[in-house]
Amino acid sequence: MPKAWYNLRADMKNKPAPLLNPGTGKPVRPEELEAIFCKELVKQELDETSRFIEIPEAIRNFYRMYRPSPLVRAYCLEEKLGTPAEIYYKFEGNNTSGSHKLNSAIAQAYYAKEQGLKGVTTETGAGQWGTALSMACSYLNLDCRVYMVKVSYEQKPFRKEVMRTFGAAVTPSPSETTEVGRKILAEHPGTDGSLGCAISEAVEAAVTNDGYRYVLGSVLNQVLLHQSVIGLETKAALDKYNIKPDIIIGCAGGGSNLGGLIAPFMGQKLRGEADYDIVAVEPASCPSFTRGKFAYDFCDTGKVCPLAKMYTLGYDFIPSANHAGGLRYHGMSAILSQLYHDGYMRAVSVPQTEVFDAAVEFARVEGILPAPESSHAIKVALDEAKKCRETGEKKVIVFGLTGTGYFDLAAYSKYNDGLMDDYIPTDEDLERSFAKLPQVWSGNPPE
Ligand SMILES: *Cc1c(COP(=O)(O)O)cnc(C)c1O
Repeated sequence: MPKAWYNLRADMKNKPAPLLNPGTGKPVRPEELEAIFCKELVKQELDETSRFIEIPEAIRNFYRMYRPSPLVRAYCLEEKLGTPAEIYYKFEGNNTSGSHKLNSAIAQAYYAKEQGLKGVTTETGAGQWGTALSMACSYLNLDCRVYMVKVSYEQKPFRKEVMRTFGAAVTPSPSETTEVGRKILAEHPGTDGSLGCAISEAVEAAVTNDGYRYVLGSVLNQVLLHQSVIGLETKAALDKYNIKPDIIIGCAGGGSNLGGLIAPFMGQKLRGEADYDIVAVEPASCPSFTRGKFAYDFCDTGKVCPLAKMYTLGYDFIPSANHAGGLRYHGMSAILSQLYHDGYMRAVSVPQTEVFDAAVEFARVEGILPAPESSHAIKVALDEAKKCRETGEKKVIVFGLTGTGYFDLAAYSKYNDGLMDDYIPTDEDLERSFAKLPQVWSGNPPE
């Protein structure tokens, strides 16, 4: 297990563009961010130079409950596919929250506690982040308030019960409990909600309650930093057996698991020490990289958060209710956006039914029920392994298996009953939300 997180930004020549204050259009100052986020996390968010940041002992002790996570060679899958490729997956589902999100939840809760705060607020989409954060908060005796996207709150009642069992208060979003929630409800009555709305509500709840700060489970630089434990462990395990990956694949919602998995490999690539084919996989229903614009945009629907320069579908874009809730965010990590823009990685978008075909193919031989989000990576790993079958190449494929799908059985049931469909937004849908992108000229002109 690593003793320090790896900060990929230290090795990037083109750093991610700075966050901007939505009011002034100027780069945000640390003091401004400290009204929203914990102090130490603001420091990590803005740190572009420290290559390694020590993981505090208390966090490492928590990690020991479920880490290092296994890096598994998928022998049975290789055999079933009849491929000469070697397939490995890093499995992050072996903890009660069922996903990689716990790696950052414990870090963020720890720094909130260190600062002497009473509690934290957050949003959750599919519920994985809220579950992870409620586990971390109960461990550290912090209050946890979760705004849960309404459609998930209604469709995934069991997620909510796990959070409540760990002591969190869960509110469906948009709600009447915040000003921004009431405004969104007035403009879009009957809305299913979105991550962007829930973020706005959670931020408002943090800044209007004494002793609270807001925490976020993906997208931010600090989250990618914490998730670097995934990549560092993966690299340590591969190095131990002298295995060099050719292709590294991860699903991309806000970019945290992918950013964490690829971190040390991308670092080598940036320093010119090695080359890898790095692939982000996103749903065709929410294609930020493959069809989005690289521009400054709001991170939330209520426009209360700083602006980030990223691949985005527009803050107003509400994707169809596909079954990979964790991949429904309109934007993307600024770090990954810059790396993608500079050609260091590629992206693929895949339709939902093909993702479930792959999930089932994987589950039946590897014995793990994968989360729909994770199954996006499985789908592309299978495609690459099948290509090797055609060409006879013995490529080494590594992918991130971010979590388990036990709370996604309604989705599996739809799939098994043949009722699942693929919704893909039209160009007109996207143009409508692109038209609302903010005009920002400070620093970099918009593209
Ligand atoms: C949240 C989540 C994701 C997507 O989030 P990233 O920040 O892009 O990693 C992927 N898989 C699972 C299981 C998740 O819970």
